[in-house]
Amino acid sequence: MSKILVTGATGHLGKAVTEFLLQKTDASNIRILVRDAEKAEDFKSKGVEIAIGDYNDNASLLQAFKGVDKLYLVSGTDLENRSAQQENVIKIAKEAGVNHIIYTSFQRKNESADSPIAMLAGSHLHTEKVLKASGLTYTILQHSLYADVIPMFAGEKLLENKTIYLPAGEGKTAFAARIDMAEAGAVVLLDETGKFDNKSIEFGGSEAVSWDQIAAIISKITGETITYVSPSVADFTSTLTQAGVPAEYISIFAGFGQGISEGEFDVTNGELESLLGRKLVMVEEYLSGVYGM
Ligand code: NAP
Repeated sequence: MSKILVTGATGHLGKAVTEFLLQKTDASNIRILVRDAEKAEDFKSKGVEIAIGDYNDNASLLQAFKGVDKLYLVSGTDLENRSAQQENVIKIAKEAGVNHIIYTSFQRKNESADSPIAMLAGSHLHTEKVLKASGLTYTILQHSLYADVIPMFAGEKLLENKTIYLPAGEGKTAFAARIDMAEAGAVVLLDETGKFDNKSIEFGGSEAVSWDQIAAIISKITGETITYVSPSVADFTSTLTQAGVPAEYISIFAGFGQGISEGEFDVTNGELESLLGRKLVMVEEYLSGVYGM
């Protein structure tokens, strides 16, 4: 059996991948890379091997990756530095003798520098390029937007102000629940047939919904009338700036809003559903768990 290493295992996605792996393989086949051992106590008690490391610290990565066959690389959260960080992870993985890297990338149509989400896209595209050129076996999982980000875009105070304010127009998104992405990641990691080798796979949901539809779904779940308002990017930016939201967040929200309006994440190709061999978590089902009583 291959030794698997999961990075980001103290975060939502990597933790869920590790939990799925534990259901399907012996804990002795799993190692996780964490920055803070305290956050990994639960996995340690289940027999998962803990390696302390940071994408910025080559010595820690080299030590952590020794003896690993397959590495699940969760894309980093440090947008400014993650291009270099992830290039580093790939380089050190190769040095350590890792055979196969599974990288969590993003779904898109527009790869140009004009993409409204260029601030996130560049580092994913760079990592995909470096990984493909590395000579290692790769699988690139191009994740759509998680259904889990809907409440964030809808706003923390949605049930007070009852309005979703986002410059996403009529665009539809094939949201998929992060938990489904995680289970699919575990399936890819445990595959011994090689059918995912050197492939890029787009993981979208099985339905694409607009923000008007999301407002209607949340209205149905909560019994409140939730309205969706799509301002221009300029109005969105000035309103949020006046409300004291940091510019960095505004540009990310505006970029995603614009990307959604341009149909950037409107891809329902059935790959995720067929890989899992079951129905996916639907947006309404996911949102019922968040907004339902
Ligand atoms: P998350 O909960 O924030 O987890 C990120 C994980 O990465 C954490 O375990 C964190 O460790 C680890 N990490 C960050 N920087 C690191 C470094 N320098 N060295 C080692 N580990 C590092 O994020 P998530 O929800 O699991 O999402 C996973 C990734 O998907 C994100 O990092 C982001 O790139 C991307 N994402 C995609 C979507 C989407 O809709 N498709 C939405 C959100 C995020 P600590 O616990 O020590 O902080």
